[in-house]
Amino acid sequence: MSGLTLNAVTKQFGPFTAVDQAQLSVPEGRFVCLLGPSGCGKTTLLRMIAGLEQPSTGSIVLDGVDITALPTHKRNLGMVFQSLALFPHLTVGENIAYPLRIRGIGREEQAKRVEGLLDMIHLTGYADRPVTKLSGGQRQRVAIARALAISPKLFLLDEPLSALDAKLREAMQVELRKLQQQLGITTIVVTHDQREAMTMADTVVVMNGGKIRQAASPIEIYRKPADRFVADFIGSTNLLPLTVEGGRTLVLGQAVAGFAPPAGQSTASLSVRPEDIHLSAPGEGRLTGRVTFIRDLGGTIETFVDVAGAEVVAVSTPRERPMVSVGQEVGVVIDPATAVVLAA
Ligand code: ATP
Repeated sequence: MSGLTLNAVTKQFGPFTAVDQAQLSVPEGRFVCLLGPSGCGKTTLLRMIAGLEQPSTGSIVLDGVDITALPTHKRNLGMVFQSLALFPHLTVGENIAYPLRIRGIGREEQAKRVEGLLDMIHLTGYADRPVTKLSGGQRQRVAIARALAISPKLFLLDEPLSALDAKLREAMQVELRKLQQQLGITTIVVTHDQREAMTMADTVVVMNGGKIRQAASPIEIYRKPADRFVADFIGSTNLLPLTVEGGRTLVLGQAVAGFAPPAGQSTASLSVRPEDIHLSAPGEGRLTGRVTFIRDLGGTIETFVDVAGAEVVAVSTPRERPMVSVGQEVGVVIDPATAVVLAA
């Protein structure tokens, strides 16, 4: 297969397992985001793919070739880190040309490629500017162009946008994704920002405690989370206890049809996104609760409902605003088509 494969890649630091049996296939041209909370092992995994860290066990295969023991400079990678590490004493053009120069590529060819790369990052005409005279976003684009100058097989980025302010960052996410699509280069980005991952990635790899918990498209991660961690980490969700008693399925202790725990188990968790919860009159087949708080944010309305002592949150738009008020008894409708049953 052309692309990148991780086979049970593990990294131990002494007794501590930073990455635990990571298994992943990235087809050529795919954009992957490694996403997870601080310390989950995403940077360590990226550093192993880069050859900056040696796996304790397992192997890394690029285009059918085992590169586990190959030094970084022989892996044909482009890398961008949070620090960017541009050379402050060089111009934009010299920075971008640097990897070409150390590979002994002729001056004329260097100039031609730099020009093409500047066009690509929308900085045509900036070749002679000192990098110190650029804005944060422009510097970011120069770092990307420099990493791509050698036409790498694999493009690795570690929190590349985290130094930018929110607005510029969102714009750069779109720009980076478009650039990647245009070049068709296999790209792996570490981020702790789920919005960023959802914006850019073909495949989101959610990690926690050194383990890959799920690797799937953004929509699948959101709609079909593999476990409670992923359900809770991505967006917000209601995790409601599901039990079976006397052949009936109970959610928060109340009978609800349409769900069952995984085979052989008597308890589970039901994950329901707030926008998938509908409020209605109390009645058969729905939970009964009492509205405790309504947060009207203009574009969305969050309604908090106490169901048997647990808090259930429903989100609606002003257009579909439920006609409820604080203190009112309501029916909480959970659609089996949108709720996901997860192991407890
Ligand atoms: P962050 O988002 O905070 O950068 P991360 O998911 O990228 O977190 P890593 O940097 O991969 O996490 O670190 C994973 C774990 O491995 C952390 O607990 C970290 O302290 C530990 N770790 C990383 N590098 C080393 C090292 N060289 N020696 C010992 N422990 C390390």
